[in-house]
Amino acid sequence: MEELLYEGKAKQLFQTEDPNILRVKYKDDATAFNGEKKARLTGKGELNNQIAAWFFQFLKDKGVPNHFIRMISPTEQLVKKVAIIPLEVVVRNIVAGSLAKRLGLEEGTSLRQPVVEFYYKNDDLGDPLINQDHIAVLELASEEQLHEMKTIALQVNELIRGQMDRLGITLVDFKLEFGIDAEGRVLLADEISPDTCRFWDQRTKERLDKDRFRRDLGQVIEAYEEILSRLGGKQGV
Ligand code: UDP
Repeated sequence: MEELLYEGKAKQLFQTEDPNILRVKYKDDATAFNGEKKARLTGKGELNNQIAAWFFQFLKDKGVPNHFIRMISPTEQLVKKVAIIPLEVVVRNIVAGSLAKRLGLEEGTSLRQPVVEFYYKNDDLGDPLINQDHIAVLELASEEQLHEMKTIALQVNELIRGQMDRLGITLVDFKLEFGIDAEGRVLLADEISPDTCRFWDQRTKERLDKDRFRRDLGQVIEAYEEILSRLGGKQGV
């Protein structure tokens, strides 16, 4: 049996026979507020596996390298093994969530340019917002790696924002994670899904993302299904 390397809130990571390849299993578990709110949402694992695979393949085709290799089952995909840099890179186009609270801005306000933020991935500290000097003194990433992450994050924003716009959906904000691969390169990794992005329907103004779970809006799975369906529906493996 393959070794379970890591179990996160929404995914399990297994070592495969190839030392450079991991198997990711997307779970049905949903958590919010640093794990305080929990639920099992049947079908979420399959939806996020499909949606993440779609976005990673799309980005690869557009020249943004990432860890995705291929889907191998409805809930699983193979990815390149990387050492995750303990930073969450958030890009925002519209004010929502913690930015609204922190700066006292109204949710839904358009930002005149994308805003990039870094959060320190540390559950005990509650993932605090940090700046480039904090990242340097904590030695979380080099200046060059940070520049690379920011450049890729803004590219991802342009590509996914444009794509979702064509499907009648606004990309409000999202979170990315990066890792260092076997060759020492910075590689886009982790997940891109309605768990990690805010998507708003342009016509109905409905939220089609994890805010439905965070804010008890109901119809969480239906919203994730809507995202997958606009992307072209379920892909076979
Ligand atoms: N996000 C995430 N994981 C986190 C924190 C945030 O995927 O641990 C995503 C979130 O879904 C949203 C964006 O990053 O798309 C910005 O989140 P925000 O800082 O507004 O935090 P929240 O309101 O979710 O606490």
